[in-house]
Amino acid sequence: MKANSPYERIVKKLNKLAIAAPDSKKFIEYLKLYIPKKDAEIVAELDNFTGRTKSARSIAKSINKSVDETKKILKRLVDEGKVLYINGRYALHTIIDIFDIPLMVPKEEYKDKKIKKLARLSEDFFKNKWNKEIFASERPFLRVIPVEQSIDVANQKVTNAEEISSRLKRAETIVKTTCPCRARKEILGERKCDYPLESCLMLDFHGNAMAELGKGKVISQEEAMDWINEATRMGLVHMVENCDEGPYFFVCSCCPCCCIGLRGLLELGNPRAVAPSNYIAVVDEDQCTGCEFCLEKCHFNAISMVDNKARIDPDKCMGCSICSVSCPFIEMKRIDRERTPKNLLSLYGEIAKEKGRSIF
Ligand code: SF4
Ligand code: SF4
Ligand code: SF4
Repeated sequence: MKANSPYERIVKKLNKLAIAAPDSKKFIEYLKLYIPKKDAEIVAELDNFTGRTKSARSIAKSINKSVDETKKILKRLVDEGKVLYINGRYALHTIIDIFDIPLMVPKEEYKDKKIKKLARLSEDFFKNKWNKEIFASERPFLRVIPVEQSIDVANQKVTNAEEISSRLKRAETIVKTTCPCRARKEILGERKCDYPLESCLMLDFHGNAMAELGKGKVISQEEAMDWINEATRMGLVHMVENCDEGPYFFVCSCCPCCCIGLRGLLELGNPRAVAPSNYIAVVDEDQCTGCEFCLEKCHFNAISMVDNKARIDPDKCMGCSICSVSCPFIEMKRIDRERTPKNLLSLYGEIAKEKGRSIF
């Protein structure tokens, strides 16, 4: 590969961000399969969406084509999910979206050779290299959020960081999409669970981008809360961006076998893959019947039986509250475990600072 190939230029720009792909050989292999070279020459002209988005006119100038022809090419690339379109301007997608978007396809396409290869490359890259990059900071970008029914809202300090409904209420657009983590495992024939593939709630800016790509269905707040309640009954762990104030991008309902965040914690043993919520489960030992139901419910192996009573390990409890909604004798107590960054800017600003990068 030439020293200054379009793929290297794309990676160089993406690597300025808080979440990047510094060890990029495998990522370049992925990009080469995903974006044909002719298109990569155009994508390489773009910048990160957090920085300088570009007009079709300025891109036309740098690729030496007419504005009309450039607009046509850009429209196709936007429709294919390879270029991000924001308010009439163009930018690179984030690395996470570059891995996820091509897998958010109808199930009939799961047998497609290219889709399978992309899933294989992204899974291997995640397992062998990328997990060390995305979970490298002391400040995780993902956070567990408890189920509200389990929190005594009247008597405990509850912030937006801990309320799914307040996050959803603030969203103007909610789009339910395919969960790319589960899709990846399904495409590879490695999925161990049977939780629904349609599972992620993408909000506002991110939701609109997905809806425009035809990658999801716009749903109402009631429908979104119905799904959250159903996912809770299934025992899925709810996760959000690790920040308190909006704008928010997603509310995910995750399983430990597919979700990259939970796998980072449980399969790859990185304690900072996911931040715990500010709650902890507490068992009323006098009432506990020793039925062991909560043991099955906890994905984090935080519960054991001691003298026929459930005992919570505070170091392992992530405060997801799935045990608490399953048993009236488990209460969620607020413990202010760790500070939550104010908003997305401060979250990614902190992560970037730790890694000596910027967010633009
Ligand atoms: S974070 Fe959870 S819901 Fe979102 S894509 Fe991953 S597993 Fe799916
Ligand atoms: S805490 Fe509840 S679910 Fe767990 S063993 Fe005791 S009674 Fe059963
Ligand atoms: S004990 Fe397990 S299921 Fe209960 S809140 Fe803690 S992590 Fe969640």
